[in-house]
Amino acid sequence: MPSERFTGLAAVLDAVRDDEGITQPMLVDRVGLGRSIIARRVAELEAAGLLAPDGLGVSTGGRAPRRLRLRAEAGFVLGVDIASHELVVGLADLAGTMLATRHEHIDVAYGPAAVLARVESMSAALLDEAGVRGGLRSVALGMPEPVSFDDGAPVALPTMPEWSPHPIRERLVSLWSAPVWMDDRVNLLALGERRVNPLAGRSQHMIYLGGGAGIGAAAVVDGRLYRGSRGLAGAIGHVPVPGADEVVCHCGNAGCLEAVIGGPALTRDGRKLAEAGQSPALAAVLADTGTLRPLDITLAAEQGDPAARRLLNDSATVLGASLGMLVNAYNPDLVIIGGGIARAGVRILGAVRASILRHVPPAATQDLRIELSAVDEEVAGVIGAAQFALDQLFSPAQLPALLGVDADA
Ligand SMILES: [Zn+2]
Repeated sequence: MPSERFTGLAAVLDAVRDDEGITQPMLVDRVGLGRSIIARRVAELEAAGLLAPDGLGVSTGGRAPRRLRLRAEAGFVLGVDIASHELVVGLADLAGTMLATRHEHIDVAYGPAAVLARVESMSAALLDEAGVRGGLRSVALGMPEPVSFDDGAPVALPTMPEWSPHPIRERLVSLWSAPVWMDDRVNLLALGERRVNPLAGRSQHMIYLGGGAGIGAAAVVDGRLYRGSRGLAGAIGHVPVPGADEVVCHCGNAGCLEAVIGGPALTRDGRKLAEAGQSPALAAVLADTGTLRPLDITLAAEQGDPAARRLLNDSATVLGASLGMLVNAYNPDLVIIGGGIARAGVRILGAVRASILRHVPPAATQDLRIELSAVDEEVAGVIGAAQFALDQLFSPAQLPALLGVDADA
């Protein structure tokens, strides 16, 4: 257990991160510790170079109190977002402001050795360009599947079997000499959404759906990510859809949500429509390019192709029923539809909404908002990863290492 000292330091840091320009009297109210303890913790963080004075606040009689800010320039974190086919690496300061990013198309099926080599060289380039290699404090990686929070081991990677036994975290820790954290990227997308989209930032009870090749959801409960006992909270991608028993999933089971409406499922169904002569628009794309992407189905629907519209509408209805289960379980005030599915935009939103409302008692939907993500997935994932790296770095358990002091002191 972290001592009272580090819990107090972390609480002060959290309050300053939430409210730049906060004063010591305000910290006493916010953190709930006595004035002299707050003064001591602030002095300690100033001595460590993490906090700095930032002008004077409003006087309530007597001397005006100093305002405090986080010294964002005192270090850097790396956020890494590994999606099934995209890799984004970002360098952020201690306030979580993204300073530079790099992006590449990959395939996680290349395996851990090839993908991690790209992560390493892209990260090294970012750190060298910014000239801050020595200032790296923490790294967080988002993975396309659920990850055990405590040791960073993947817990359920049906799409990435060759990754499971790979000591990903150990390899990266030894490379950077900085702590490395891993999480399901859908959790990081939710963190990124909360940071950038004010509607999500205000929500204390949010479900974030990340839908693309894989499908998963993140749950924010009382303002914090809820991961469950093994990191599988919100993992709805492999929950069976009623009546879809004939659809075989790559995980080996039948009827999984991901196998019914995930990206590959959409292109599979779109191809059937094209080949059966039911969708002239999709048949044209297939004839031109020899392949179909999920985006082609959205584009065909936008051009008014009835079969493509029906396919999207049916997928949205199935998705809404699965989200309805999560709404019933978590009673959120906000559901955000993100990931590749969000690119179908308002075309699917109405059908998802209607389907959720059909599966949830009216009392649970009275104040419920169901909206599309306001943040591009490529941006949200890496911003969320940096946020996660910072949340870990400033946690009571990590502060002794960050401050270079003995945890028992
Ligand atoms: Zn499955």
